[in-house]
Amino acid sequence: MTIKEKEKLSNYLNLIAENVQSSIGYPIATDYDYSMLYDLFRYSLNNAGDPFIERTHGMDSFIFEREVIAFFAALFRAPENNYSGYVTNGGSEGNLYSLYMARELYPKGIVYHSSESHYSVSKSIRLLNMPSIEIRCGDKGEMDYESLKEAIEKNRHLPVIIVANIGTTMTEAVDSIAAIKCILQELAVESHYIHCDAALSGAYLPLVEDNSEFDFKNGIDSISCSGHKFLGNPFPCGIVVVKKDNKECFGKYIPYIDSLDTTISGSRNGHSPVFLWYAIKKYGKEGLAQRALESISLAKYTVKQLQERNITAYCNEKAITVVFPKPTATVCRKWNLATKENLAHLVCMPGISKDTIDRFIEDLLQDSVQNTAFSLEPTYI
Ligand SMILES: *Cc1c(COP(=O)(O)O)cnc(C)c1O
Repeated sequence: MTIKEKEKLSNYLNLIAENVQSSIGYPIATDYDYSMLYDLFRYSLNNAGDPFIERTHGMDSFIFEREVIAFFAALFRAPENNYSGYVTNGGSEGNLYSLYMARELYPKGIVYHSSESHYSVSKSIRLLNMPSIEIRCGDKGEMDYESLKEAIEKNRHLPVIIVANIGTTMTEAVDSIAAIKCILQELAVESHYIHCDAALSGAYLPLVEDNSEFDFKNGIDSISCSGHKFLGNPFPCGIVVVKKDNKECFGKYIPYIDSLDTTISGSRNGHSPVFLWYAIKKYGKEGLAQRALESISLAKYTVKQLQERNITAYCNEKAITVVFPKPTATVCRKWNLATKENLAHLVCMPGISKDTIDRFIEDLLQDSVQNTAFSLEPTYI
């Protein structure tokens, strides 16, 4: 490697180390230390195939993957003897997998999802060539149930496949499974499938709620979550939990990998499950709940600080995403803010301190003073 190339690498490392200090717009936890696992990087770990099928010899981490799935299955109150799933490449893959399952179960089904659903939902629908109906949302990003009811009523003879957002990407709004189930009951819909896209909130809400609405006990059929968001993981990954019975709709035996082909990807990252397992064991359920409570309280603090300075800001109940009027491009870039139309958000992830929030607000105020054309008037939201 040339000196120049070495320099390029070290510059990159320095840049990333600097950027992480002001990266508050995307939901990535940064409070981790996985140094105990660094030895694993000497090996190629590959989890191709179904983690619930034992292999006699393999460079896989199935024993960890099964425990990770068991942890989340219990968190989402999946039936003890009838759950399955795997560690995905991210929340998006879990959405694709679940919709694929729903389509195999109900080939004639129509997918209903809200206008605030993540882009991976509409992409999956296109990939799977499924008919779908987009439902409009209220001001804060929650699905409009009246519209959902009307849409289902018109097609009640066909199976209903719902994608419920458990924390929308922009405002972290949670669609109500109870309200959705009520509609299905009122309209006497016989065949239905409820999938929850819980990429961010799914990993922490059940830790701080007694009876999370969005779980298997309350009638869901599958749930997808990101592993690198709340839990914190240096590489993108996710968790999808489904009902084992439903998995029988796919899963052809493939001699080459000595397993059933029940996953979307072929080769899968074998390190991720060990890292996820490590995080779960290190924090424990209580430790994870504590982290969640700290994030929720930091979000409340942020909203209060912004409002005290006359900046309209809000945060959905128990959410850690704070929404406010979109600042100038300079501030958005510096703080890596996520924006949509005239809104921006930051996410109070574990690893972000009060001090970081204070520095951000100072920047925001200074910038709005310098840019007289820009206003943080309440009319923005
Ligand atoms: C982040 C996110 C996703 C996608 O998850 P990835 O892990 O990035 O694939 C899907 N849905 C929602 C609501 C998200 O916030």
